[in-house]
Amino acid sequence: MNIIIENLIAALNRLPGLGRRTSERIAYMLVQDKFGTAKVLIKALQKLNEDVSICSTCGLITSEDNNPCEYICNNQKRDLSKLCIIESSEEFFKIELSKMYDGIYHVLNGKISPISGISINDLRIKELFDRIYPSDIKEIIFCLGDDVESAATVSYLKEKIKPLGKLISCIDLSVLDGAPIEYLEAKTLGKAIVQRNEM
Ligand SMILES: [Zn+2]
Repeated sequence: MNIIIENLIAALNRLPGLGRRTSERIAYMLVQDKFGTAKVLIKALQKLNEDVSICSTCGLITSEDNNPCEYICNNQKRDLSKLCIIESSEEFFKIELSKMYDGIYHVLNGKISPISGISINDLRIKELFDRIYPSDIKEIIFCLGDDVESAATVSYLKEKIKPLGKLISCIDLSVLDGAPIEYLEAKTLGKAIVQRNEM
């Protein structure tokens, strides 16, 4: 197989949800495509690489010239006493869409998962404690899923946060009805936060 195509397949294969066969199909589609899809993709990825950044405080997606992010970390209207812990920016967009939460966020950038080789050192845990220890944050809300990795992450963090004397709560997992958090509609996720339980 051509080494350029092979490298493209390998790169696509690294994306979540794309297996080897789908990666091959996309790679060959891009090579033979008559509508310039590859060029559109290159442009979008270049823009992503140049202009998109991660907020150094909360870990949400922001732009290079907007750090800490203006919509949460530099927004005076947010309730600084509530901090919602999420896995990625994806949950943030949904929660904001629900308009049922007005606190601030912290993106962990994953969950503890020995199977996927993700340990506590790969997550934004140091950044979390750097900001909760000396701050006005009174409540920490865990907004992770109902799976083994989420449970392991919550249990680890809960033990570490406990001595700080903050209120610790968890979204109402029964609202999820067994579904992964990424499949939930904004309103459902918002409801799970509103109905959160103290841990
Ligand atoms: Zn931020």
